[in-house]
Amino acid sequence: MINTLDNIKNTLLEDLNLLTAQELKQKYLSKDGVITELFKGIKDIDASQKKEYGEQLNSLKRDLEEKISQKANININEKSLVNIDPTAPFDINSRKDKRPHILDLKGSSHPLMQELEIILDIFQRMGFDILESRQLDDDFHMFESLNFPKGHPARDMYDTFWTDENLVLPAHTSTMQNRALRRFAPPPIRVVLPGRCFRNEATDASHEHTFYQIEGIYVDEGISIGNMQATIKEYLEQYLETDLEIKMQPAFFPFTEPDIEFVISCPFCNKKGCSTCAYSGWIELMGCGMIHPNVLLSGGIDPQKYSGFAWGVGLDRLVAIKRGINDIRKLRDGDINFLRAL
Ligand SMILES: [Zn+2]
Repeated sequence: MINTLDNIKNTLLEDLNLLTAQELKQKYLSKDGVITELFKGIKDIDASQKKEYGEQLNSLKRDLEEKISQKANININEKSLVNIDPTAPFDINSRKDKRPHILDLKGSSHPLMQELEIILDIFQRMGFDILESRQLDDDFHMFESLNFPKGHPARDMYDTFWTDENLVLPAHTSTMQNRALRRFAPPPIRVVLPGRCFRNEATDASHEHTFYQIEGIYVDEGISIGNMQATIKEYLEQYLETDLEIKMQPAFFPFTEPDIEFVISCPFCNKKGCSTCAYSGWIELMGCGMIHPNVLLSGGIDPQKYSGFAWGVGLDRLVAIKRGINDIRKLRDGDINFLRAL
């Protein structure tokens, strides 16, 4: 049997030069591959040779796997080299003043990103860390870690997009709560979580299928609703550059308890009523609440010792309110004249 192994090693040496990583995998390591078959044969070998044979076979398999992975990496590197366009006029990442002047570049950051910078700056000054959310996530972070067990009816409130691999385009930035709790533990944990979200729904002047959300969590010993109210009010007053009156109304979210709708006095009409506040004088701006003990537990935080609050607000909506935009879809339809006028 040891002789058979030597023969196979010789063929393998030739194949390493001739076959691709995928072909090598198929020939040697697949369900009926050469090495897999040799492993199946171990049971028929004389007991005195079994150990040595097994060791040699294992070491051969490890070597081959390593060679295949090296080969696969080389292929990827070669591919990416081929994909670089050497005729490209300049490196888009180079400093503006180093770019050729032939092209009159008038690029600037999008209004949503400009406003996001302002908001993140406010929170950084309040001592918050920043962690950006992902644009593709899994069921655990989208639902289970947030106290939506499988089959929970509240899952239907979040109709989003799924891939064939069962990954989800996040419908909220709360997908990051579990990661933030684990990454910034032990408390105090203060993190703001901006990111892109997606909903499978019809669009209108105040709803989009793609939008930005800014989430935040604050966890420590003895955190109360009073801390939440003060933090959110301070943030909104700084961002909207005006004093605000606030109201807190009951709402429903599985991942907070109690669940609260944060309502602000209209910053434009001093509660007299205008088109921005639909003539009510108040704007229902965002959801918030005390983080549910199950969410803390799933993030490895002891809810007996710690408490915390969370909030989430749509960036597009906030920017639309601040800049007097009557249709949030305009923020994403690429009309340069509209964007420049903002
Ligand atoms: Zn108003």
